[in-house]
Amino acid sequence: MRIEVDEDKCTGCGICKEECPKGAKIWDVNKKAMATNLRYCHLCTICASKCPEDAIRIVRDAQDEPKK
Ligand code: SF4
Ligand code: SF4
Repeated sequence: MRIEVDEDKCTGCGICKEECPKGAKIWDVNKKAMATNLRYCHLCTICASKCPEDAIRIVRDAQDEPKK
């Protein structure tokens, strides 16, 4: 999976980092937010739902689907 941040929309407010349960481990927010350490991410999608600019897109790959 990957997390894409739309740089045109992102204001660097840092809400994604604050709201993410693993925020400080995953998010690097300077002028723009970047999700860097995705191995800590458990795809809760809180970051995307809390972003006021709707700038975060979580892209799941086929291998992320739960195994049966
Ligand atoms: S919450 Fe959205 S606008 Fe704010 S820093 Fe994160 S990605 Fe950027
Ligand atoms: S999906 Fe959840 S764990 Fe992953 S970066 Fe977003 S808020 Fe953090």
